[in-house]
Amino acid sequence: MMAPVSDAIRPLRITALAGGVGGARFLRGLLNHLAAAQDPVRRDARVTVISNTADDITLHGLRISPDLDSVMYTLGGGIDEVRGWGRAEESSGVAAELAVYGAEPSWFTLGDKDIATHLVRTRMLAEGATLSQVTARLCERWQPGVRLLPMTDDVVETHVDLAGPDGSTRRVHFQEWWVRLHAAVPALAIEPVGAAAATPAPGVLEAVRDADVVVLPPSNPVVSIGTILQVPGIRDALAATAAPVVGVSPVIGGAPVRGMADACLAAIGVPTTAAAVAGLYADFLDGWLVAEEDEPPVRAGLHVRRRPLLMSDPRATADLAGAALDLALELVDAERAA
Ligand code: GDP
Ligand code: CA
Repeated sequence: MMAPVSDAIRPLRITALAGGVGGARFLRGLLNHLAAAQDPVRRDARVTVISNTADDITLHGLRISPDLDSVMYTLGGGIDEVRGWGRAEESSGVAAELAVYGAEPSWFTLGDKDIATHLVRTRMLAEGATLSQVTARLCERWQPGVRLLPMTDDVVETHVDLAGPDGSTRRVHFQEWWVRLHAAVPALAIEPVGAAAATPAPGVLEAVRDADVVVLPPSNPVVSIGTILQVPGIRDALAATAAPVVGVSPVIGGAPVRGMADACLAAIGVPTTAAAVAGLYADFLDGWLVAEEDEPPVRAGLHVRRRPLLMSDPRATADLAGAALDLALELVDAERAA
C-alpha cells in the first residue's frame, strides 16, 4: 500500500478559528499533541490562529481584547489556570483604587498585570498601530508558539438586545450581558456591530486558503466562531479552501459544558445539540467530533466521529486535538486519493 499523501506534507499548515477560554484550552492541547508526536509531519506543523475580536471592549479608557489575550496567555504560560482567564499570580490594586473613586463599571475584573497588556495595546492603537501589529508585539513577549491573528483590524463589538420592562428593549455590550448579568436575562438578539463592514486582518484569508487542515475548536458557536464567520470573506474562504474543515462540538450531552453558550444558541433559535451546532457550519464543515452521548448529525459528506470531548486535563485535551487532526488528515488522504 502506498504511504498516505498526508505523510509528505511538510510543514503541515494548520489554521484554527478560536474564541477565548475553550479555544485556548483546545489549542494548548493541539500544541502538546504536536510536540509529543512521533510523526515528523505533526512535529513540524505550523499553527495559525484566527481569533475572535468581537468580545473587545473599551473600559476605563483601556482597549481590551479578551479572546486574543486568553489564547496568548494560555499558550504563553501566563494564564490563571484556576479561572481559565486572566494572569496567574494576579493582584487587584488598580481595581481597588478605581472602586474608591466609584469609577464604573466595576463588574469587569481588571488585574494589575493584565492592565499592563491593555496599556500597551491602547497606547499602540492611539499611535496608529493596527490590532494585528499590537498582537504581534504582545506575542513577542509571550511566544505562544502559533501565529496569532485577530479576525479583523476593524472595530467589531457584539451587542445584545435584552427585554426591558413594559415591552421595551435595551442594548448592552456582550460583556455586560455575559459577565455582569451571567446571561441570565434572555437575549432577544445578538449582533456583532461593525462586522458587516469589517475587512479580514492581513493574513486571515490566506491562512484559510493555504491551510492543509482547518480546525474549529469547541468555541462558542455564536459569539466566538459565529462572529468570526460574519467578517465578510472568511466564511467564503472556508467554503472554498481545499483543506478539510474539522470541528469539535462545544456541546456535550445537550449542554454547553462550561459557560452559557445555550443562552447564545437560544437567542438565534438554535437548539443546544451537537447536531444543531454542526448545522451552523453546514456550508463548509467536512468533519465533526461529537461525544458518545450525543446524537451525531447526519448529512451527506459530513464525516462524524464519536470521541471523548471533555477537556478535563492536559492529556485528555491533547488526545482530543489529536483526534481532530486524525480525522482531518484522513480526509486529506481520501480527497487526494479520489
Ligand atoms: P470564551 O470566549 O472564553 O467563551 O471561550 P470559547 O468561545 O473559546 O469557548 C467556550 C465554549 O467552550 C463553551 O461554550 C463550551 O461549550 C466549550 N467548552 C468548554 N469546555 C469544554 C470541554 O471540556 N469540551 C468541549 N467539547 N467543549 C468545551
Ligand atoms: Ca470570548
